[in-house]
Amino acid sequence: QYIDAGFNHNNSYAEQLNGFYVPFSGDKAPAPKLIKLNTELAKVTGLDIDKLDPTMIAAILSGGIPIKGAAPLAQAYAGHQFGGFSPQLGDGRALLLAEVIDTNGTRRDVHLKGSGRTTFSRGGDGKAALGPVLREYLLGEAMHALNVPTTRALAAVTTGEKVMREGLKTGAVLARVASSHLRVGTFEYYAAQGQTHKVKQLADYAIDRHYPELKDSDSRYLGLVRAVADKQAALIAKWMHIGFVHGVMNTDNMTISGETIDYGPCAFIDFYDPSAVFSSIDRQGRYAFANQSSIAQWNLARLAETLLPLIDEDSNTAVTLATEEIKAFTQTFEGYWLQGMRDKLGLMTEQDDDRALAIELFSSMEGQQVDFTLLFRSLSAVLRGQTDAARQLYHSPQLFDEWQDKWLKRVATESVTAEERAAAMNEVNPLYIPRNHKVEEALQAAEEAGNYEPFETLMAVLAQPFTERDGLEEFALPAPAGSAPYRTFC
Ligand code: AMP
Ligand code: MG
Ligand code: MG
Repeated sequence: QYIDAGFNHNNSYAEQLNGFYVPFSGDKAPAPKLIKLNTELAKVTGLDIDKLDPTMIAAILSGGIPIKGAAPLAQAYAGHQFGGFSPQLGDGRALLLAEVIDTNGTRRDVHLKGSGRTTFSRGGDGKAALGPVLREYLLGEAMHALNVPTTRALAAVTTGEKVMREGLKTGAVLARVASSHLRVGTFEYYAAQGQTHKVKQLADYAIDRHYPELKDSDSRYLGLVRAVADKQAALIAKWMHIGFVHGVMNTDNMTISGETIDYGPCAFIDFYDPSAVFSSIDRQGRYAFANQSSIAQWNLARLAETLLPLIDEDSNTAVTLATEEIKAFTQTFEGYWLQGMRDKLGLMTEQDDDRALAIELFSSMEGQQVDFTLLFRSLSAVLRGQTDAARQLYHSPQLFDEWQDKWLKRVATESVTAEERAAAMNEVNPLYIPRNHKVEEALQAAEEAGNYEPFETLMAVLAQPFTERDGLEEFALPAPAGSAPYRTFC
């Protein structure tokens, strides 16, 4: 029997992209329990949380209940993982549960992760453990509060099952919402099989869904490359501005919409280090902090390749045009990066030496174990003559002093009050980020003791990352000195 979840269904992916998925439903969880519901977001999706009781919501959002009007499916995609091509990845433990028009009239995917095996599971069990589910919940919502485009967590549900990881773990499902799950890897799927008409079908769909302004353009496929590149440039610049390391920027984890997706081994840097890598499997540092824009560019080149036959009949012309677009990414990214840096440094006008000023700040931090987040946050106090908080982050504070002189001279060229500037800076330089040790504390309490209090507390702190509040000092601090280097396993 089908349940009315309240969604306003509009199954465009199922209806228009035959061949890009397999119809599928989730496993029935033995004892679904709602651990966390993103109430506001749930309402926006249309999920009828007033009528449905929590157990029913948990059952629906773990995938085992047929929903009236839905066309649940597992999406097919390929992808370059750590540089190597896999022709078939796909939703091996995920499900597009519903495609809805939300209460704002926006099309959204309601998607599950950990809902059971599918045609694409290969050797995997199709399941997820509670720790990684809560991790994605926390990180995704933190990114949203930090004004970074992202998929968002809708709910975390425990299934009543144990899953085998390093030992038996509590089984869980993450429900998330995205503007779509179209990936670079989705384009690679049929491109690798030489099926240009399928790539065209997908490209037209993607343009319709995300870049409708391109629809009537004669060069719409080249336009699609440019549009995705622009969105990704803006996105990666934002990551760089807050110290976010995605950790697994495979082409199957890069969206066409420009939203951050797949919070697996990601983490925020504490002290500034361009080569920062947290993922235990990224041994070469391919996805290191400072590599992220060039990796995005590399991924975009893979996207452009899939579209070559559509860009121009003449393959040389197509390559020339596509190459220009991919090259232009460098400039586009630099532009977003520099504008975001001006905001972080409180610069209200554009001047020629701004880029050099920003780069000099990073140079001053190198090797100094300077906490990235606290340094930027402390700059607003420097405007008021309080320099200690910033200086003491350095082993050699004179490195900061030298930079500070230049910055204050630059700032003085603009007629803006210190208060005004400080306020603007505190709106872009967060005080609270998901500190790795705090995230681990919260996940451990939940996994080992069923204690969700630290998780809830951390969620509440991260919901307002720019607003300093009393009693939250511990959440603004890096891990205690001497802590082991942070490693993620996903
Ligand atoms: P990810 O590393 O999460 O981006 O996933 C890469 C690929 O591995 C995707 O095709 C996933 O669906 C698949 N995958 C990851 N974990 C599992 C699992 N536990 N069971 C089945 N497939 C999985
Ligand atoms: Mg993925
Ligand atoms: Mg993953």
